[in-house]
Amino acid sequence: MAVQKETYLEIKKALDAQQVQLVAVSKTKPVSDILALYELGHRDFGENYVQELTEKQAQLPPDIRWHFIGHLQTNKVKYIGPFVHLIHGVDSNKLLREIDKQAQKQNRTIPVLLQMHIAREETKFGMNEAELQELLAALGSYPLQAVRVRGLMGMASFSTDSNLVRTEFRYLKSLYDRYRQLQSPAFPFDTLSMGMSADYQLAIEEGSNLVRIGSLLFGSR
Ligand SMILES: *Cc1c(COP(=O)(O)O)cnc(C)c1O
Repeated sequence: MAVQKETYLEIKKALDAQQVQLVAVSKTKPVSDILALYELGHRDFGENYVQELTEKQAQLPPDIRWHFIGHLQTNKVKYIGPFVHLIHGVDSNKLLREIDKQAQKQNRTIPVLLQMHIAREETKFGMNEAELQELLAALGSYPLQAVRVRGLMGMASFSTDSNLVRTEFRYLKSLYDRYRQLQSPAFPFDTLSMGMSADYQLAIEEGSNLVRIGSLLFGSR
């Protein structure tokens, strides 16, 4: 399926009016699809796989802001450290420390979001609130040098039950509001990444300020 340029322009306009950022999720799609949106002025793209991301990054204009939205393995941080704009899925202290190390090596700061597990489905990824508190306590006693924790990310259940999805988003927003009170220079906490093609409108109603949309823009995978 071709890139949905009309849909992009409509969604982008609506999101701009609500001051919600759009990350166009381009995983599995060719660089020509990314360029089609780039030519319309879009700069924020999201990818899930390190190798796919580094290959695309090398072929595409340097002013693209690359969001890593997949599960990041510690031993792969070094490949995206030089250029990644925002890492959405951080859910362990070990991974944060490695990102901090790579950021220092590259003489830059790397912004990250902490991933929370909010869906009913079992997955290995994302933290519960107790784990988040543990992580924040660890940061308190051993601060990061070159990582900026900008907020939280989460994925709701894959469900047509909009009440369930809404409840999960509402819960994530409540965590975001609570931990936002800890704001500091290393902890700017201004970004809540929630909502995908199927549920982004619900997510915005529940307080999201960054949505990650793939199939609506690029067609199904
Ligand atoms: C693939 C993916 C998306 C985009 O999903 P669509 O349903 O295609 O919009 C958003 N977030 C994450 C974490 C993803 O893996």
